[in-house]
Amino acid sequence: MKATVNEDCIGCGLCESTAPEVFAIGDDGLAHAIEEEVPEAAEDAAQEACDGCPVTAIELD
Ligand code: SF4
Repeated sequence: MKATVNEDCIGCGLCESTAPEVFAIGDDGLAHAIEEEVPEAAEDAAQEACDGCPVTAIELD
């Protein structure tokens, strides 16, 4: 599974708190995937973050 955050992110922080192994808020105040390839153990959390993102900025494939 690969994770990316697109330009719609508003920096709410939800994904970082839901899946801290996958997403982090950067110096720009917006979320970024820490590593594009999601660790297998974090896939459920990544999916939960994706589902919960208020602006649908997280893309998983
Ligand atoms: S949950 Fe969505 S809007 Fe909020 S910080 Fe993460 S990617 Fe950005």
